[in-house]
Amino acid sequence: MFALDGITAGYGGTTVLRDVSVRVPDGAVVALLGPNGAGKTTLLRVASGLLRPTGGRVLLDGADVTTQTPHALCARGVCHVPEGRGVFPSLTVRDNLVLLSKAGTEAESLERAVTAFPRLGERLNQLAGTMSGGEQQMLALARTYMQRPRVVLLDEVSMGLAPTIVDEIFAFLARLSAEGASLLLVEQYVTRALEAADFVFLLNRGQIAFAGEVGEVDVAALAAEYVGGGR
Ligand code: ATP
Repeated sequence: MFALDGITAGYGGTTVLRDVSVRVPDGAVVALLGPNGAGKTTLLRVASGLLRPTGGRVLLDGADVTTQTPHALCARGVCHVPEGRGVFPSLTVRDNLVLLSKAGTEAESLERAVTAFPRLGERLNQLAGTMSGGEQQMLALARTYMQRPRVVLLDEVSMGLAPTIVDEIFAFLARLSAEGASLLLVEQYVTRALEAADFVFLLNRGQIAFAGEVGEVDVAALAAEYVGGGR
């Protein structure tokens, strides 16, 4: 179980999150929804070790991992696919992948990455920055997949992409989940996120406004909460 327990966090003197708790059971897909500025990205930054909270704890199987670096957390199986993808544009697709492989496992890692998105296999020598936004997102996802994560933190991975690419990405997320990974999914596409998810947390103005199983959710009410900016 990966869990955020009573997280309070912000930037400088500004508090963005107040006492936020989110649980990601083993193998579950958890959607984190909420209007712009609610604090979703901030929460993922805390979860991945990029931002130190001022209160609360990040827990992995009951162990306190709040102060771990993103690198150390990913080595323990909790990997972040950040907003904006984080690929190295001036490196080739191959080098983007190999850079994160353990020494001696490069060939095996490349092969695994390419099974996630076969079209990357045709582009191993291309500079990542010259690929389309969708292909760069696939590269970022393949790079995470290669590391065999247990928990994947995904920040708006479908943002700005064409519907067919979004389909491919959600098919990949379904595969990742079927292989046993837990997913914490920040998504702008509420319907797609709810189709993929087992549990949903709604964040509004830095606090959890709703938490439950997807089967319990009144989608219309949730959508209304968005349109109204929530309360
Ligand atoms: P969006 O969907 O618009 O990305 P979000 O729910 O992910 O929204 P956050 O990006 O977490 O929200 O932002 C929450 C609040 O924190 C906003 O008011 C934002 O302006 C503020 N914020 C985000 N990043 C920083 C930063 N680096 N420094 C200061 N304030 C920040």
